Amino acid sequence: MRLSRYFLPVLKENPSEAQIVSHRLMLRAGMIKQQSAGIYSWLPLGFKVLRKIENIVHQEQARAGHIPMQMPTLQSADLWRESGRYDGYGEEMLRMQDRHGRDMLFSPTAEELFTDVFRAHVNSYKDLPLTLYQIQWKFRDEIRPRFGVMRGREFYMKDGYTFDLTKEDALHAYNRHLVSYLRTYERMGLQAIPMRADSGPIGGDNTHEFLVLAETGESEVFYDREITDLKFGDRAIDYDNVDQCQAVLEEFTSRYARTDETHDEALFNEVPEERRRVARGIEVGQIFYFGTKYSEAMGATVQGPDGKPGEVHMGSHGIGVSRLLGAIIEASHDENGIIWPEGVTPFHVGIVNLKQGDDEADAACDALYQSFTAAGLEPLYDDRKERAGGKFATMDLIGLPWRITVGPRGLKNGVVELTCRRTGNSEELPPEQAVQKIIEIYAPHRVHVF
Ligand code: ATP
Ligand code: MG
Repeated sequence: MRLSRYFLPVLKENPSEAQIVSHRLMLRAGMIKQQSAGIYSWLPLGFKVLRKIENIVHQEQARAGHIPMQMPTLQSADLWRESGRYDGYGEEMLRMQDRHGRDMLFSPTAEELFTDVFRAHVNSYKDLPLTLYQIQWKFRDEIRPRFGVMRGREFYMKDGYTFDLTKEDALHAYNRHLVSYLRTYERMGLQAIPMRADSGPIGGDNTHEFLVLAETGESEVFYDREITDLKFGDRAIDYDNVDQCQAVLEEFTSRYARTDETHDEALFNEVPEERRRVARGIEVGQIFYFGTKYSEAMGATVQGPDGKPGEVHMGSHGIGVSRLLGAIIEASHDENGIIWPEGVTPFHVGIVNLKQGDDEADAACDALYQSFTAAGLEPLYDDRKERAGGKFATMDLIGLPWRITVGPRGLKNGVVELTCRRTGNSEELPPEQAVQKIIEIYAPHRVHVF
């Protein structure tokens, strides 16, 4: 993409309505525009990162064997009357009527819809286990929408639903989700710690939330510092293997890590004092096992091996896709702007032409652009007739991890400058070597799962 042809409405001034850094930077970098409280337009740069995050979620879901589909955002209230949640859900549910006076609602979550599809089409235990999921817009009429996309009213969420014949199988589905989420967040450059949580209106007792540590997090968290040494890394896991998934669950959840809702001071005090940490965290996901709560209420059964109707054990598993943009920025920025992790960056590399209009500099930039594009990478080429300082400021603000600076002086010596956004370190290299280096850096992030 050439910046002169892109739509990147960066703001010079700090927007006064933004209380936290991620909200401020998303507005300044021209990623989002507020349309009403907690409802945003996703401008091209924000939309691009949203898609990158969504893609990682899809790839890791595919790896775990989960099946994507799409549900409507609007639902009939009748389904929620069947499950018994319509009256209880409260003010967060946006309710409306169609022209015939039928009660409708904008989906805040989708247990009922998925259970309805399941009961209509799945009859036999032979069709289990089954995990269906979607990535879809949700609406919750939050009492205090704030912090930009972190607590919106309309937000983008991955929600997956597991259907199993026994509690034991359902707990394997739970563990499988935990494992796949660890890998998902790490690919986004995040450390998200699974913490024992409270199940809220969805119900059930087996539940973990995934929290990214950040001062601006809304949850108070208590944990054993040792947990932050754990890395999932690039382990080869067989997601169907019960023991392997169980072992990962134990490794990542055996140390003390809880949100304030489930915090137990006496248990916490058993952790050696020097390892006890009290901090704040951003909830970026949650997994639940809730048994037969919805399947029973909505009459979803399958024929068991004995020919009799068997119960269906369910779980639901969510990732806050749009909230993740905020969480990643909270975890990765400096005073000049965002620092995208390589896994989610909107463009892989920025090209800054110090002397636009100079034949040699223009030709060198065009050649770099072609090389990256041919290698399947996306460069953002700042080809505007602007001062160098302004170009650097924009690149720093929008946070591309790598920048190549091209100017007549370097070209005389056959080199361009390659700069790392995170460290600020620069090196001079011949253009082909700079391209090669960038290609190698991104190699591990180019995963093709489906
Ligand atoms: P919270 O406690 O933050 O209100 P929740 O526990 O009600 O969230 P879940 O039902 O677990 O949310 O939804 C799954 C994920 O969706 C959450 O982990 C979070 O990352 C994201 N999410 C929930 N509410 C919002 C919101 N208002 N804006 C943006 N993301 C949200
Ligand atoms: Mg939650």
